[in-house]
Amino acid sequence: MFHSIVLVKQVPDTANISGKVMNDDGTVNRAKLPAVFNNEDRVALELALRVRDRYGGKVSAVTMGPPRASNVLRECLFMGADEVYLVSDRKFAGADTLATSYVLSKAIAKLGQYDLIFAGRQAIDGDTAQVGPQTAEKLGIPQITYAEQIVEIADGTATVRRHIDGGYEVLKARLPVLLTVIHEACDCRPFSAKRVMAYKNARTLMELEKMTDDNSLLYSDRLVHETKQRGLFIETFTTDDLDVEPVRCGIKGSPTKVHKIESVVLAGGEHEQFEATKDGLGKLIDALARDHIFG
Ligand SMILES: Cc1cc2nc3c(=O)[nH]c(=O)nc-3n(C[C@H](O)[C@H](O)[C@H](O)COP(=O)(O)OP(=O)(O)OC[C@H]3O[C@@H](n4cnc5c(N)ncnc54)[C@H](O)[C@@H]3O)c2cc1C
Repeated sequence: MFHSIVLVKQVPDTANISGKVMNDDGTVNRAKLPAVFNNEDRVALELALRVRDRYGGKVSAVTMGPPRASNVLRECLFMGADEVYLVSDRKFAGADTLATSYVLSKAIAKLGQYDLIFAGRQAIDGDTAQVGPQTAEKLGIPQITYAEQIVEIADGTATVRRHIDGGYEVLKARLPVLLTVIHEACDCRPFSAKRVMAYKNARTLMELEKMTDDNSLLYSDRLVHETKQRGLFIETFTTDDLDVEPVRCGIKGSPTKVHKIESVVLAGGEHEQFEATKDGLGKLIDALARDHIFG
């Protein structure tokens, strides 16, 4: 029986970006962007669920983000996670990888005993692939990056296959261990219709309070109590709940400053056409060499 914790991130849907989405300080204006579940984190969750299917135990999912990041937590419940936690506070905003991994490591510590931590290899917004490894460092546990298969967990160790260029290697690490998972690792199970029906009303405290603000017939305390009773309350950790130093959180704790953002617009330009003849082929090669595409 193993307790797996999965780090999941809600990321901007980079396939659907329009308008000014960067703040002047170089942070992302997430409120202006459609948001999706980071793909590799979904695969990380699938691997964790497979560990539970094979050995028993439970799977907890954790995300740090703004209140609406609870959407990815509901998706985790729909896929099969047993518990989900939102880490959210204005003081966590604007975090670089150092501050993100610091807060995540404190949230993990708050969850108590664990055997495996799964993260995606990389998030599609910041793209650094640092948060997983930095979190393992802060927790003082081993890490295996680019994981693609759990071969076995036995005798206090995990045997894991990791991807390397042109092949793979198999590593053994003692538990607890943190794995960063690549998207090629496996296909993910679809949402379970039963679980969607069961968890579609799972809500955080902030979401419940907003519901009562919008509807004078609802009473906050009662709604929270009922949601808890039905097992649909998503717990939120703020700075007050975690053993964190405020100066190490959010923008205050983030030495990385994005200096400049350039919006690269790929537009169709002029095109040259070459005849499908020996002479045309020669001209094509000359043009490619001229433009330094090869040669
Ligand atoms: C244009 C741009 C450039 C940036 N450059 C840098 C930079 O050079 N250095 C820097 O430190 N920061 C940088 N940042 C900030 C960075 O996006 C944030 O620090 C972010 O919170 C974590 O980094 P990442 O997105 O690169 O995550 P990665 O390290 O790529 O994420 C790996 C995995 O860690 C887990 N994870 C990451 N974030 C969370 C979270 N909030 N909650 C739960 N799990 C999580 C997920 O499993 C994820 O798949 C940049 C941001 C932008 C917009």
